[in-house]
Amino acid sequence: MIVLKFGGTSVGSAPAQRNVIEIVRTRLNKKPVVVVSALSGVTDMLYKAAQGGEGLQDVIKDLKDRHFSLIRELIQQDRRLCIQTQKDVETFIDFVEKTASSATELSDRDKAAIISTGELMSSVIVRAALCCNGIPAARIDARDFIIATGDPLKSEPDTDEINERTPDAVNGAFDGLTPEGERPQAVVTQGFICSSGSGKPSLLGRGGSDYSASLIGRALEVEAVEIWTDVDGVRTADPRRVPTTRCLKRISYEEAAEMAHFGAKVLHPLTLEPAKTIDIPVYVLNTKNPDGECTVILNKDKVTEPVKSVSYKNNILVITLSPRQSMNTAGFIKRIFDIFSEYRIAVDLISTNNARVSITTDSCQKNLDKALEAAGEFAFACIDEGKAQISAIGSNAIIMNSILKMTFKPLRDSKIYMISPGASSVNISFVVDREKMDETLRETHKYLIENESCN
Ligand code: ASP
Ligand code: MG
Repeated sequence: MIVLKFGGTSVGSAPAQRNVIEIVRTRLNKKPVVVVSALSGVTDMLYKAAQGGEGLQDVIKDLKDRHFSLIRELIQQDRRLCIQTQKDVETFIDFVEKTASSATELSDRDKAAIISTGELMSSVIVRAALCCNGIPAARIDARDFIIATGDPLKSEPDTDEINERTPDAVNGAFDGLTPEGERPQAVVTQGFICSSGSGKPSLLGRGGSDYSASLIGRALEVEAVEIWTDVDGVRTADPRRVPTTRCLKRISYEEAAEMAHFGAKVLHPLTLEPAKTIDIPVYVLNTKNPDGECTVILNKDKVTEPVKSVSYKNNILVITLSPRQSMNTAGFIKRIFDIFSEYRIAVDLISTNNARVSITTDSCQKNLDKALEAAGEFAFACIDEGKAQISAIGSNAIIMNSILKMTFKPLRDSKIYMISPGASSVNISFVVDREKMDETLRETHKYLIENESCN
């Protein structure tokens, strides 16, 4: 068996979905389990719908236009299937409209239910498109087997439950019949969405479809997980910001996780964890260029070439805290981090100076205001929004040395506000002014990756 995960841009237009169909066709002998994201942009629309209030009607109209025109374009050859698919999608959109207008302030569960419809709708369309093109396919609901607990909008997977339920759900679908009465050659399901053990709707957090694919791959012990996206593999930097990137052909699970954590947009940071437990290779490929370059992510024993890359985060806050009264440094830091841990604030970089501590964190942290209010009792907080964080990532401690040397050289002209070598010793990150980010990224990439002779 094989898991093929298609992201929002891969399923978001008729030409892209035609590529998806051909990619699935070449893998039919491997029993493909197709995991899909919502059409690109739809999850954002649904988050907006879940806010309720003004603008809901516009979102509903956009959702209809977007899905119906895709259905008409893709499934037109089969009138009956086209009408049925439209009906199924309409039921989901009606649900969104009804739920979103049912209360002024929706619960997180209701929001999760609304947002889940993006993946449910795209899976209905992808299944129909496969069938319409001669690939009988069954659709299963990921909420029956991806079980997760905690925050409904960002739940933690219960891997024991998932490992137990997924094989039955998938094998059952392959052994059953499609709604058209045929034996399925592919099974389609949704990424990102899950449910609590008692069946309440929840989500794995933004970008979570990759994570779903890996969880499903692990549960089925598949031969490979393929993540189909819109770039040629994992690159040495974001190609939209650095024009001269290279594809990384083989990287280890740890390196890929580090890159994702430090801002590389290709994979959700937790994707590799399930695959790694039983050494399933994870491929990153481009739906628009299926025969182009790709990356395979493997156990580190199988990766010999040193890997280097540069990533960034531009939505960070640098928060500097200093004690209101003189206090010993260790005691102060402990109190600060107790609060961050209580409010579940994910801290990226840390540096301390005398009794002051500076940290970086994503600007969209849910409870940040509350945490800072609690810290305000004994600390002054200074928040700087105008900064960006750049991380140079290399595969071992030797590379680390040259990264340090190289990282500083091209940066002589940039003011560096904070620098923090990663505890795992495969990365080093620094904070610069946001306006300097693109330039610094390109310079660092040039020095670290393009000019091999400087290393
Ligand atoms: N559709 C979800 C999102 O946009 C999940 C995903 O695509 O991975 O965050
Ligand atoms: Mg994604």
